[in-house]
Amino acid sequence: MPNQSETITLIGSGLAGPLLAISLVKRGFRVEIHERRPDMRRVRVSAGRSINLAVSTRGIHALREAGLWESMKSIIVPMRGRMIHSLAGELTFQPYGQDPTEVINSISRAELNVSLMIAAEAQGVKIYFNQRCTGFDLKTGAVRLRNEETGVETAVESKTVIGADGAASAIRLEMQKVDQFRLSQEQLDYGYKELTIAAGAGGKHQLEPHALHIWPRGAYMLIALPNIDGSFACILFLPFDGEISFASLDSEEKALKFFEANFPDAVPLMPNFKENYSTNPIGSMVTVKCSPWHVGPKVLLLGDAAHAIVPFFGQGLNCAFEDCTCLLELLDRHGADWSRVFHEFEQARKVNADAIADLALENFVEMRDRVADPRFLFRKKVELALEAKYPGIFVPKYAMVTFHRVPYSVALARGRTQDRMLGELCDSIERIEDLDWKKAEAMIHRELTPLENL
Ligand SMILES: Cc1cc2nc3c(=O)[nH]c(=O)nc-3n(C[C@H](O)[C@H](O)[C@H](O)COP(=O)(O)OP(=O)(O)OC[C@H]3O[C@@H](n4cnc5c(N)ncnc54)[C@H](O)[C@@H]3O)c2cc1C
Repeated sequence: MPNQSETITLIGSGLAGPLLAISLVKRGFRVEIHERRPDMRRVRVSAGRSINLAVSTRGIHALREAGLWESMKSIIVPMRGRMIHSLAGELTFQPYGQDPTEVINSISRAELNVSLMIAAEAQGVKIYFNQRCTGFDLKTGAVRLRNEETGVETAVESKTVIGADGAASAIRLEMQKVDQFRLSQEQLDYGYKELTIAAGAGGKHQLEPHALHIWPRGAYMLIALPNIDGSFACILFLPFDGEISFASLDSEEKALKFFEANFPDAVPLMPNFKENYSTNPIGSMVTVKCSPWHVGPKVLLLGDAAHAIVPFFGQGLNCAFEDCTCLLELLDRHGADWSRVFHEFEQARKVNADAIADLALENFVEMRDRVADPRFLFRKKVELALEAKYPGIFVPKYAMVTFHRVPYSVALARGRTQDRMLGELCDSIERIEDLDWKKAEAMIHRELTPLENL
């Protein structure tokens, strides 16, 4: 299929870049990646890269296709549900699914990144580090690069360039010069900060390891994901400004007081709290929607570069990996007819990327606020009962997104239909025994087709 002399230039050796490179090389292409950061196997990873990610069905599928999932199993911790921490320190476990195989998997971003780069290099992918892409010539296809250590500027010519350079993509910036390029970037007015819960004696987890821990507090929240070494990677989500915000908690002492008042059971598990709080930067979160994603056969945006989303559905990486699955399917179907492959890729993925962007924003409210609301918990109970009675037909939105590979746009639309049904069924009752099953059955048969028929 490929012209063996064809070299594909990938910008960005984050998560999607090396994964895609592996499968392109397996199909006979030569692949070079240019990455602005130093090689994290040699240089200590900076804060912001040690965050944990939840990998679920879509991501696992892509890793399996690349032959990598089995080897990842030693660096993941399965999480079976959410563990909600109330202010009084009570714990409530909310399983993600009915089936014990319905888990999401906590993995360190840095370890995943390193594993992917090792696997890519083993396939013959050449990764150039400290090479920041500073621009791209849409006419000649030349990528401009600046060495971050030496400052030396070079250009690489390539017929096919793929921008997997993340939310602040330099390739996307160049594409803004294309007529009719549309871009919306919505910055969330919340920031995030990494913190750590230390491992206990003998490397034991100090909290339940097979859960994603959440301290939902309405306008803000803390979450913790397990690491294989017994520690937890925590993320504090807080508004940038306002009464309770990163701006107001501007010293270690104020932050500690705030934690003692709001997350009292977490504080004793965080011996390095003050240092973490003052040293780790405040990250920002953005939703990027843009189009087109490609310019003819020359250049394509993929992953966060094309569609950055906020992290609250745990799907950014999963969506970026699903991009790789889709692109490779099209390549296998059409061969290296890049214009066609890129065009059909955008047609297939754009609507789904937009859908998961919206779902991720909606899930923020659910995580920080609604998971602690008794009415929400009751609806969840009814949702699980409906799923048990109508498996494969009434599938909760969370499960469609996380444990299935139905298009995100379908999950969004069906999720809205099901939310409306749940509203109608639950609003006037307090107990599951009072559920009007006849009404539920009529609604489900009228409005939902089995998921497998889609
Ligand atoms: C706090 C937080 C929590 C998250 N949790 C989850 C989760 O639980 N599950 C999930 O699925 N997703 C999660 N995500 C989202 C996920 O991290 C991203 O969607 C994913 O990393 C996208 O992969 P990517 O390869 O497209 O981009 P990235 O992983 O960002 O990789 C881009 C790469 O390009 C490099 N680069 C950037 N600019 C240039 C340049 N000019 N020249 C050369 N190289 C460049 C970068 O250094 C980087 O290595 C989370 C994100 C955040 C911020």
